[in-house]
Amino acid sequence: MSEDFYEVLGVSRDASEEEIQQAYREKAREYHPDVSDDPNAEEKFKKAKKAKEVLTDDEKRRMYDQMGHERFQQADKRGATDGDRGAGGMGGMGGGNPFGGGGGMNDIFDQFFGGGGRDRNAPRQGEDLRTRMSISLEAAYEGITREFSVTRPETCPECDGAGHPPDADTRTCPECNGQGQTTRVQQTPLGRVQQTQTCRRCEGEGRLHSETCGTCGGDGRVQREATLQVDVPAGIQDGQSLRMSGEGAPGENGGPNGDLLIEVSVEGHPDFERDGDDLYYDAAVSIPQAVFGDTIEVPTLDGSVEMDLEPGTQSGERFRLQGKGMPRLRGRGHGDLYVTVQVVTPTDLNEEQREALQAFAEAGGEEVNVDEGFFERIRNSL
Ligand code: ZN
Repeated sequence: MSEDFYEVLGVSRDASEEEIQQAYREKAREYHPDVSDDPNAEEKFKKAKKAKEVLTDDEKRRMYDQMGHERFQQADKRGATDGDRGAGGMGGMGGGNPFGGGGGMNDIFDQFFGGGGRDRNAPRQGEDLRTRMSISLEAAYEGITREFSVTRPETCPECDGAGHPPDADTRTCPECNGQGQTTRVQQTPLGRVQQTQTCRRCEGEGRLHSETCGTCGGDGRVQREATLQVDVPAGIQDGQSLRMSGEGAPGENGGPNGDLLIEVSVEGHPDFERDGDDLYYDAAVSIPQAVFGDTIEVPTLDGSVEMDLEPGTQSGERFRLQGKGMPRLRGRGHGDLYVTVQVVTPTDLNEEQREALQAFAEAGGEEVNVDEGFFERIRNSL
């Protein structure tokens, strides 16, 4: 029976360190074996103490939140989460004192020097990786399952991430005596300052190996091209990112993998402009169509539709075709398609048309100064 650490202390998952300390002090008062009558007091006390130790350590709490209770407990049993193992520098985790707030002097120095004393052997989540993908507007409309390749670090298959062959001889690093860290004491105007650094010889592992893995050169990871599939949801906007959980860089020391973030760019379209979930389309119509009205075909991303033009439609007038835009990414339905009428002024009139238009103008009492020489030149050039 293992209980979530947050439940043990009765705090929310986003409780501050102060709230956790406070909750722990209350539990400690309640269950302190010297005080409580509860027959399970000692066990409850220990649980509360463990919960407090983990949740008040930023690194451990982050690991705990990422790994979940069960996996964290397993890793903890192997000692893999023990941030202060052998470091001698992380200060007390309360030691034997249940009311101790942790935080020996070295904690302060670690903060001072950017926490150089973190244990390199602790499980760590792999980094998030990023890639880009370009899709058509049609694909953004329909949604698409896209296969793609990405070159990413993966755990070395030869050594399984160890960086050395399994049968390599292993010895304790003499530089740091297996601690993975070296401590340097400096005399400063403020007094003696102790600085803890990752051991350069063993790179924090605390052990040296007689052989290095030939495949990864000791890194424990190799660059590999992976082919993956991602479902791009209908309605995705240009510049939005998709997250593929666990497809990033491998975690270290049993930590979880990072994620892969795919930034999607949606290509432009020859017919449509997009604004959020709405689409815009310019429909070219002739002067007679605008004058007399007509039924025109308007393309959409889902086949074409017919739209009625009223007689006397003006150039620049805009009509809304409801629900003919892009699907909404989160939520139901579609945006709209806005159709802007563009009345096209003809540029290649034949003589008959020209005369008809002149007659049209004159019938309206309009005087049009037609450049006869212009038409003359056009006629002669034909
Ligand atoms: Zn390897």
